[in-house]
Amino acid sequence: MALTTKIGRIEVVAICDFVPPPAPPTEPFPEVPIESWEPYRESSLTEDGLYPRNYGVFVLRSDDFTAIVDTGLGPGPHAAQNGVEGKLLENLAAVGVQPSDIDGVINTHIHPDHVGWNIVDGKPTFSRARYTVSREDWEHWTSQKELAPHVAENAVPLEDLDVLDLVEDDQEIFIGVRTLGTPGHTPGHQSILIESGGESAVITGDVLHTPAQLQEPHWSFRADIDKPAAIASRRMLIEKAIADKLTVAAGHLRYDGNLGHIVEIEGRRYWRVLAE
Ligand SMILES: [Zn+2]
Repeated sequence: MALTTKIGRIEVVAICDFVPPPAPPTEPFPEVPIESWEPYRESSLTEDGLYPRNYGVFVLRSDDFTAIVDTGLGPGPHAAQNGVEGKLLENLAAVGVQPSDIDGVINTHIHPDHVGWNIVDGKPTFSRARYTVSREDWEHWTSQKELAPHVAENAVPLEDLDVLDLVEDDQEIFIGVRTLGTPGHTPGHQSILIESGGESAVITGDVLHTPAQLQEPHWSFRADIDKPAAIASRRMLIEKAIADKLTVAAGHLRYDGNLGHIVEIEGRRYWRVLAE
């Protein structure tokens, strides 16, 4: 199972920040009866019938830039609350990436498991990087009366430190890297499209939480804020990935299988892990 792939001149590397213990599937998907998982046991659950979790991020490397899409749970307030700490920095070092190598941090959305390493102790973890955040998500989360701890600690300081770039949908961040609006999980959620040398890929962000959703796109994840919008974004992304034969990078799928393709066989959609 590949942990890295090349899209034209851009290398995509799957990195794990943290693997929480697997959970009963009704925890992440409270509206899906347990028996509905039966056809997806093999593709989507552990041997014990549990939902496997992963807080994954992706590094993009080319001759022109090094970027990271999402920063995991980190040592942030949410992690501390749960008595855990992400291992992102160690796992980046293992593939030869130091925090100071990163030119750009791209947050698909402002949830605690995606911005955790943005800022640590008031300082940007990635000292040379510009931080790219969806304008709509920024406005949503930073305008709340009471800021969530991860917003206060891992997002708001980006503006004060003057390292923040707010982006719209379909906006180029690096050559060959652009935003694709996929709202619903959060109001300004963005997936990331990569196009280089005639090849293309998409980093889904939280549009996809389990391979079962390829066949059951109406299954809503617990944290989807606007469920109908999230379902519409999921359907759109699935259709696009099949039509354009995109390589798909989905950070919440199992770490050793979160790079793959969505394939359609006899009208059913499947997750096909990228082979080495
Ligand atoms: Zn997430």
